[in-house]
Amino acid sequence: MLPEFELLMPRALPEALEMLAGRASDGMPIAGGTNVIPDLRGGRYRPACLVNVAGLPELRGIRWEDGFLVIGGGVTIAEVLEDPLVAQFAPVLREAARVLASPLIRNRATVAGNLANASPAADMAPPLLVLDAEVELTSREGSRQVPLKDFFVHVRRTVRQPHELITAVRVPLPPESSRARFFKVALRKADAIAVINGAVRVDLAEDGRCRAARIALGAVAPTPIRAYEAEKALEGQPLTPDVIAGAARLAAEATRPIDDLRGSAAYRRAVTEVMVRRALE
Ligand SMILES: Cc1cc2nc3c(=O)[nH]c(=O)nc-3n(C[C@H](O)[C@H](O)[C@H](O)COP(=O)(O)OP(=O)(O)OC[C@H]3O[C@@H](n4cnc5c(N)ncnc54)[C@H](O)[C@@H]3O)c2cc1C
Repeated sequence: MLPEFELLMPRALPEALEMLAGRASDGMPIAGGTNVIPDLRGGRYRPACLVNVAGLPELRGIRWEDGFLVIGGGVTIAEVLEDPLVAQFAPVLREAARVLASPLIRNRATVAGNLANASPAADMAPPLLVLDAEVELTSREGSRQVPLKDFFVHVRRTVRQPHELITAVRVPLPPESSRARFFKVALRKADAIAVINGAVRVDLAEDGRCRAARIALGAVAPTPIRAYEAEKALEGQPLTPDVIAGAARLAAEATRPIDDLRGSAAYRRAVTEVMVRRALE
């Protein structure tokens, strides 16, 4: 059963920020509710007040702004999947949206909700990490930009303060020579939380060497992580089978997985190495 709570329905962002500031100690935002409602039912937390941010006009839409692809915090996963700008400039994000949950959930679930919930297995995190995304946090005092790599603190903990909303996620335009892939291993093909997930990105130099690399991994540590040593092993190198295999090994070494009902730590580490190698190939 759902516990009792007060539901506030702001019609615009300033009103929502006022409400959150006033209820910072016992309130929380709700967007699609696809994490919040099951968590309330399961007793994970009991906020006295929910501030409904779904549909706030200022959180809608995907657009270009000052060289950034700006994805509104209230954009749903279904909208990411259908957006032509995402398809053209951030196809790795589309790959992840395609395998997040199921059509029913994707119609409600938002990008901000996925990041703010801070599950180590959040499917939006690895692609946004390899794209060097930043999170726009807004309170009634103003906005700040936090690089996504500094956003997650621990399982279900982020640097977001209770009175702040994620108003947007900003993705800088990757160079034309950039290629990225997403991967996810789960126990079934839909409505399944990842056993592991991840994304790799390689920016190629004119001579075909790797100029810059990003490797992000999920469900293998308390937060989504970057595999910095593995990235370094690729940079400046030709992408030979040996270089790729070495980077994949380093990526697996960067993980700190746990045993749980979805898979053992040993399995997660082994599969990470295989999936990173395949994605780089
Ligand atoms: C059946 C099922 C399958 C699922 N499968 C997947 C999956 O495959 N991959 C995956 O990654 N996730 C999955 N999920 C989890 C969930 O759907 C996603 O994490 C989703 O993106 C959460 O978005 P939401 O809008 O529903 O968030 P909500 O549930 O509304 O909120 C989640 C958290 O974010 C906070 N929040 C929401 N919006 C904002 C905002 N604008 N600013 C600040 N904080 C905010 C809330 O306070 C809460 O802490 C699944 C869930 C279900 C029920």
